[in-house]
Amino acid sequence: MNILVINCGSSSLKFAVFNFHDSSQPLWSGLIERIGSQTPLRIAWTSGAQREHFEIAHCRHRQAMEWLVDRFDKLGITATLGGVGHRFVHGGENFRQSVLVTPAVLATLEQGLGLAPLHNPANFEGIELAQKVFPHLPQAVVFDTAFHATLPEHAYRYALPEKYYDEHQIRRYGFHGTSHSFIARRSRQILQEYRLKAQALVSLHLGNGCSSCAILDGRSVDTSMGFTPLEGLVMGTRAGDIDPGVCIYLAEKLQMTAQEISELLNKQSGLLGVSGVSNDLRTLLEKEKEGHAPSALAIGMFAYKAAQSVGKMMVALPPLDALVFTGGIGENSPAMRARIVGHLQCFGLALDPDANHTHGTRAGGFIQSAASPAKILVVSTQEEWLIAQETVELISARNLGS
Ligand code: AMP
Repeated sequence: MNILVINCGSSSLKFAVFNFHDSSQPLWSGLIERIGSQTPLRIAWTSGAQREHFEIAHCRHRQAMEWLVDRFDKLGITATLGGVGHRFVHGGENFRQSVLVTPAVLATLEQGLGLAPLHNPANFEGIELAQKVFPHLPQAVVFDTAFHATLPEHAYRYALPEKYYDEHQIRRYGFHGTSHSFIARRSRQILQEYRLKAQALVSLHLGNGCSSCAILDGRSVDTSMGFTPLEGLVMGTRAGDIDPGVCIYLAEKLQMTAQEISELLNKQSGLLGVSGVSNDLRTLLEKEKEGHAPSALAIGMFAYKAAQSVGKMMVALPPLDALVFTGGIGENSPAMRARIVGHLQCFGLALDPDANHTHGTRAGGFIQSAASPAKILVVSTQEEWLIAQETVELISARNLGS
C-alpha cells in the first residue's frame, strides 16, 4: 500500500508518496510554492534521483491540488494509494495522538484553527481538499503537538493564575513532535543495535525552526517550544526566549500593535535579526569568515542558547544516554555542532573532530569522543515518513477492528 503525505502550508503544498515494503525513502515527493500569490506557481518534483521543475499559472490551493491529482493519474500513482496522511501543526488538548478523519474530528479541528492562526487553517484546507479529490481514501491527521502530550503538568503549565489554563488553555504544547518522535524511534534503534543504553535522550532539532526535546523511554517529558513555536532557542527568523516585559515595553513605549510585535518576533528576529544579513547559517558562516561581527554574534548566540536548552532538557532526565542532532543545521553543520558541544563541557560532553566532520556517516552516526560520558549522534529526521507510518498504523488498526 502506498501512502500520500500532505503538508499544506499557507503558500505551499509539500507532498510525498511512500511504499512501506520498499524503503523509508519516498517514491515521489515534491513542493508546490507561491500558492495564492500573483506569480506563477513553482513546482519541484522528485522521483528517486530524477528531478523535474514545472511552472503553472498563479492559482489557489484547490487548483494546485487538482494539478497534483492530474499528474498522479497520468503516472498511475492514484490507483496505488491506500490512504492520505496530513501534517497538522496544533492539535491543542483535544488531540493527544494521531487520528483518522471523521466528521466529528473535522468539527473539532475546525474549532481549534485559532490555536495556530499561521498554520492550522492551511493544514485544515489541505484535509478538506484531499477529501474532495480522494473521496475513497482514508485520511489521517498527525499533529506536531501530539508527541508532547506526555509532558508532566509542572513542565507544561506556565506560572499564571489557573483560570488562564482552565478557561483559555494557555499552556506549553511543544511542536516539531513528528521530528522528535522519529528521532526517539530511530536513535533507540541505533543505540540498541550497538547494545547501548537508550533510556534518556535529548533531541536537538536545528533547522530554520529549532527545538529541543527530553525523551525518557521513548516519551517526551519536556520540550523547548511552548504555547506557540516562538519559545525556546534562537531560530532562523524567530527570537526564541525573550523577557515578556520586552513585549509590554514595545506596546507601551513604541505603540507597536500585537500584529507588529508578532511580525518582529516571528519573522524579523533570530539569526536574521541579529546578523542583519540572512537567516541561512551557511551565509552567516561565510560572513563570519570575512570578519562580519553581527554574523559572528548571531552564530554565537544561536550556539549558546541551543547548549543552554540541552542543559534544561537534562534536568528532566536521569543521566543522559545520548544527545542527538537533527534538522538542516543539526545534520549538516559540523561547525555549529562543535560550538554547541563546546558549551557542554560542564557535563563532560565532547566530540571526536573527525567523526563530527564527516557527520558521523563513517561511524554509525556517532560523533562523540571516547571520553564523553554520553553518546552524541547525527540522525537525519524523516517527518514525512513518520506521518506515513502513523497513517498505515491507524488504517491497519481500523481494518482489524472492522
Ligand atoms: P531546515 O529548516 O531543517 O531545512 O534547515 C534550514 C537551515 O539549515 C538553514 O539555516 C541552512 O543554512 C542550514 N543548512 C543546511 N545545510 C547546511 C550546511 N551544509 N551547513 C550549514 N548549515 C546548513
